[in-house]
Amino acid sequence: QDGKEKHAYQSDVARLRKIVINSLYSHRDVFLRELISNANDALEKLRLTSLTEPDVLTGAEQMNITIQAIKDEDGAGRIIISDTGIGMTADELTTNLGTLAKSGTSDFLSKAESDTSGTGNLIGAFGLGFYSSFLVADRVQVASLAAKSSKNPNPKQYVFTSGADENSFEIFADPRGNTLGRGTEITLYVKGDAVNYLDEQTIKDLVNKHSSFSTSFPIYLLTHRVEMVPQEVPEEDGPVVAEEKSETSETPKADIDEDEVVIEDVTEEVEEKKRKEPELVPVTREEWVQLNSQPPLWMRDPKTVTDEEYENFYQVTYKDFNKPLAWYHFSGDSGSGVSFRALIYIPAQLDDAYWQNPLQSTTKDIRLMVKRVFITSDLGEDALPKWANWVKVVVDAEDLPLNVSRETLQSNAFLKQLRGIILKRLLQMLHRIMEEEPEKWEKIQEVYGNVLKLGAVEDHKNRDKLVQLVRFATNQRNSTSLDQYLENKKQGQNQIFYLADMGKSTEELSKSVFIEKLHARGYEVLLLGDPLDEVFITNIRRWKKIGFQDVAKAGLKFGDEEMTAEEEKAEQAALTEKYKPLIEWLRKEVREKGAARDVIISNRLVASSCAIVADEHGYTANLEKLISSSHA
Ligand code: ADP
Ligand code: MG
Repeated sequence: QDGKEKHAYQSDVARLRKIVINSLYSHRDVFLRELISNANDALEKLRLTSLTEPDVLTGAEQMNITIQAIKDEDGAGRIIISDTGIGMTADELTTNLGTLAKSGTSDFLSKAESDTSGTGNLIGAFGLGFYSSFLVADRVQVASLAAKSSKNPNPKQYVFTSGADENSFEIFADPRGNTLGRGTEITLYVKGDAVNYLDEQTIKDLVNKHSSFSTSFPIYLLTHRVEMVPQEVPEEDGPVVAEEKSETSETPKADIDEDEVVIEDVTEEVEEKKRKEPELVPVTREEWVQLNSQPPLWMRDPKTVTDEEYENFYQVTYKDFNKPLAWYHFSGDSGSGVSFRALIYIPAQLDDAYWQNPLQSTTKDIRLMVKRVFITSDLGEDALPKWANWVKVVVDAEDLPLNVSRETLQSNAFLKQLRGIILKRLLQMLHRIMEEEPEKWEKIQEVYGNVLKLGAVEDHKNRDKLVQLVRFATNQRNSTSLDQYLENKKQGQNQIFYLADMGKSTEELSKSVFIEKLHARGYEVLLLGDPLDEVFITNIRRWKKIGFQDVAKAGLKFGDEEMTAEEEKAEQAALTEKYKPLIEWLRKEVREKGAARDVIISNRLVASSCAIVADEHGYTANLEKLISSSHA
């Protein structure tokens, strides 16, 4: 076991590494955020495990992330990122870093191989973060010491190492022994063209931009500063400059001393000398500086958070390359005595898979924290109804017990209330955008228009609020709400007219023969080309007590007819008499061919000479299509 074991990468990993190395040059920055995000995950896992297994904490009390950049003599250098998280055993190093367990990876790979433009996003989205190390390193070494546990009472430190152009990696017991206390130390042997990442300011900037607010664990950077101090007693020739501290310096204590650490001891002799001869020489001072001393973003006062910070936080937390469309940051009280803070985001896009599984509703993007400690992002099947389960949320509850288990979570009153709280605030946010931000509102309609219709059908409790958000195209305008439609209705009109034909564009629908007469008479008709439109209409049935009327169904009445019903009947009878031979012939023809049920004289058309209409109580052609396709 202690000898070096050579492992070939699983073929997908080899492909992936190649893509990462070859095509993501312009996204190199992501390596740091990915490694910090892994460190954060490892610390979260440790903290969760410690609730039931306190032993895991032995070895190192503090929970933090440290970064060091070491410039070597030859101009090359190393970046060392360490955490005191859960760590990995030899087997875990092999499995976690040598194989891709994620489903959909092959999909990702073919996408990435054929299109490199948006791959920086894909890396994050598919959680392939570790391999981004190879963007800046030609060799990566991971030393890890798993936390003590009942299953692994005497953990041993192991090393994973691999070069950027090797198709295999090695695993071996760390010759240094258990140096880590606990956790993982990743050493990046920085490529010649990536030495700019050894610059402390560059690291600070990157952490600030991508990571400082996304973890509640402290991130420390070892900084070096040259300072002029009084000269020491010269030993042989010239002043002695303090040596740079070696990279094995201890990681900082949890309660880090803010005072500077002076490496060279300034002896009393020197002090004396200084008094006589105050000559100054440069000394390198090393200091651990915390890069994320602010509270996590969601805990801050919204007034102090910039848009850019909200956007960065979103992109890093939810691994989305696109900026969010909107967000809502608020605090509240659940009603069961739990006070909380929450941050809700509307992503710029729905997942490709959103409509593929229309009935399945699982949410993995509600991150529940208790007093800043991450608890879970899996709130179970019914966390949110399907229509809203794309929303990204961070909730931090003040007064839940920290050791809430999954089971108690399920029965916890707060979680039941949380669903209602999120939906209520999401709807508030959407209504506000509708009223105040027309451009954003258009974008929301583009992406979520159908989602809102689905919501109105599915979410009975919030139906009215959702219906108010739904928009339709009509023969008169590009977009109208049902409220606007009713404001625009003609005198005497007591129906909401619509024409539904699945798959047709608004343009095509507006040219339909069924629209002619209504259009000519100044009626507005909703033009429904999406299958969901008709599902919406048939489920909602009426709005503000006014029913929907399919203009393609027989028996259509407008409400402003100049003739009374009797007069109309009489006229119809007269016309039928007049055209009797024609109608009878047509009836015979269509019945023989099974093309239609009946032929009647109608006053519905203006320019077209005939139209096929649906039975008053029959399915419309559109619903028939929908039903037959869902049975296919
Ligand atoms: P992801 O983080 O999405 O799972 P990564 O490629 O970033 O994908 O990491 C792969 C896996 O390697 C992680 O799931 C985790 O099990 C393990 N891992 C990576 N970094 C660490 C670390 N610092 N401590 C413990 N485990 C880690
Ligand atoms: Mg990761």
